[in-house]
Amino acid sequence: MKKITLSVAALTIAMMSYGQTQCNGVTKDSVQCKNTTKTKVKLCYLHNPNYVKAVTKSATICSGTTKSNRNCKNKTKDLSGLCHNHRSNE
Ligand SMILES: [Zn+2]
Ligand SMILES: [Zn+2]
Repeated sequence: MKKITLSVAALTIAMMSYGQTQCNGVTKDSVQCKNTTKTKVKLCYLHNPNYVKAVTKSATICSGTTKSNRNCKNKTKDLSGLCHNHRSNE
């Protein structure tokens, strides 16, 4: 019975790690990175120099003011922090 239980456990682990390999990178303490990766280079996002982090810039409220001297409520993703209305009036 014990033998069967062990093989089932081994099978479960094998299934869980299917398609994933341990990162070949090494941490600061010279220990192999514990992250798993699905990439062909076998490096996780921390160690893969080609990994490109998806940058999602969140929208901010426009820092411009309306004619009635109120804060503009438009949202903008522009680096200037101004919505399209206020940028075009420059
Ligand atoms: Zn890693
Ligand atoms: Zn604005």
